[in-house]
Amino acid sequence: MANGYNPYQEMLEVLDEAAKKLGLEENDYVQLKYPEREVKVAIPVEMDDGSIKVFEGYRVQHSGVRGPYKGGIRYHQDVDMDEVKALAAWMSFKCAVVDIPYGGGKGGVTVDATKLSRKELERLTRKYAALLYPVIGPEIDIPAPDVNTNAEIMGWFMDTYSTLRGHLSPGVVTGKPIPIGGSLGRGEATGRGVMLMVREIAKKLHLPLEGAKVAVQGAGNVGGTAARLLHREGCKVVALSDVSGGIYSENGLDMDEIMDFLTAQRGRLLKDYDAPGLTRISNEDLLTQDVDILIPAALENQITEEVAPHIKARIVVEGANGPTTVGGDRVLEEKGVVVVPDILANSGGVTVSYFEWVQNLQSFRWEEEEINNRLENIMIKAFNEVWNTAVEAETTLRMGAYMVAVDRIVTASKMRGLS
Ligand code: GLU
Repeated sequence: MANGYNPYQEMLEVLDEAAKKLGLEENDYVQLKYPEREVKVAIPVEMDDGSIKVFEGYRVQHSGVRGPYKGGIRYHQDVDMDEVKALAAWMSFKCAVVDIPYGGGKGGVTVDATKLSRKELERLTRKYAALLYPVIGPEIDIPAPDVNTNAEIMGWFMDTYSTLRGHLSPGVVTGKPIPIGGSLGRGEATGRGVMLMVREIAKKLHLPLEGAKVAVQGAGNVGGTAARLLHREGCKVVALSDVSGGIYSENGLDMDEIMDFLTAQRGRLLKDYDAPGLTRISNEDLLTQDVDILIPAALENQITEEVAPHIKARIVVEGANGPTTVGGDRVLEEKGVVVVPDILANSGGVTVSYFEWVQNLQSFRWEEEEINNRLENIMIKAFNEVWNTAVEAETTLRMGAYMVAVDRIVTASKMRGLS
């Protein structure tokens, strides 16, 4: 758990407030306060030097009311049960906001993935998949990439599940490599969705994207892709950071060059990148730059009540899950900063995961153009529903998003009844 905040408690506070705004009774939504299933596993891995290390792994299935559990797998040294529980709940709300037929789940392994060789990562992933085998499956729970996991890891995961099952089962996991059932467009889907949400909110607030100054915390699959796509939309990405620190350029960073540099080799970091006119900044500095749009796309609990008063951006679009604490959110609201919340802003990834799963179940492939069009339609529809709900209830977009999501889950739950 990062920074001493308990993300699960934070999630419960937001849920309670949304339920109150919807006029719900405790009975209507109390079940959403408890994940339906929490699994903890011990994963023994033979390291390259012959020693055995045991890593702790988790899979939390929060709500299966609207469909199979869906959500990524994270490899990070700070992963713990409370974080995974919060991330699983956020997936339930995220899938409900974009109205795709999934519940929410999440997995994680407490490991610093950067310290493992590729072979060690493979052995870890295969053992973790085998240990989760009894509780996952295309109709049960469908993992995907998250922090420090990628298509290759999903491929190993799928292969292990398929071997145990006795037949190829691509629908057990999404975000796979394209030749083994991955979907076109999935790799950049979360970043593309963030870009679309920046475009929509900028339109509403009459901020021209051309020349708009943007700072992005996180240069991975979400932050890096969003920054690259926004750069192509005419925005000036002036600041970018990763675990090694940040870079700043008054005239805007060359995002195509930076992303090509970072992705050319496993383990490359921003500290190794250089270009004329660059200054080095810290991750904290990045959040408080003088920009129009701030995109936190790294980990939870970055915009706290200590940091929030110093934020200068007018718009925050949450590429990460849970980057703003409840206290930080309050400060931003008082300052009039508009926040497009995580469960909407980063829902592009799981939306294209849904398309991947549908293609797998049908053994059929869609063209990339069709995927991107469908993604855009779904996200813009969700954005407008959230916006209208927030305007009507005179509240923030976060509350609007939670109201849409909780209402959908509670309605489905009432129709199903308790069995
Ligand atoms: N890890 C991503 C998220 O937090 C994607 C999940 C998925 O595709 O299932 O939304």
